Amino acid sequence: MNPRIRIAGVVKESIVDGPGIRFVVFAQGCPHHCEGCHNPDTHDLSGGHLVRIDTIIDEMKKNPLLDGITLSGGEPFLQSAGFSELARCAQAASYHVMTYTGYTYETLTAKNDQEWQQLLKYTDLLVDGRFEAEQKSLLLKFRGSQNQRIIDVNQSRLKNKLILSKMN
Ligand code: SF4
Repeated sequence: MNPRIRIAGVVKESIVDGPGIRFVVFAQGCPHHCEGCHNPDTHDLSGGHLVRIDTIIDEMKKNPLLDGITLSGGEPFLQSAGFSELARCAQAASYHVMTYTGYTYETLTAKNDQEWQQLLKYTDLLVDGRFEAEQKSLLLKFRGSQNQRIIDVNQSRLKNKLILSKMN
């Protein structure tokens, strides 16, 4: 399977979107409309452009310095089939996967949706929750507002409860 995903764009090398040096993919389309969102151009479901998953992986492999991929947005879970396949391919190529979502971890895990669960399965770190302007803080690592959490998805799955990453 090599689905295409609709993206707003990519950043080929970032040190501010997760641990290490990362390739960042910004999903196009977001239903959350958080007040004060920094990426309002990503909200339109029909904006951006389509890209093949192997094109992204091939681009990543050109940079030997990369540690991982960050799936940002927009809302990656709106295109969970394509983004879970991207995350699966990235992990298979030994990249660490970090995913941003406006949904909470509890909402994601409670939803009986195989594609949502697949995207969670292939995510190592999840940053969850909407951006809340009144809880905004510039002191937070990799997050915009204090309600958002960096979740260790692998540990959470193993222990069957939410485990925060030490990066919080
Ligand atoms: S979830 Fe993210 S992209 Fe979507 S409106 Fe909120 S801050 Fe913006």
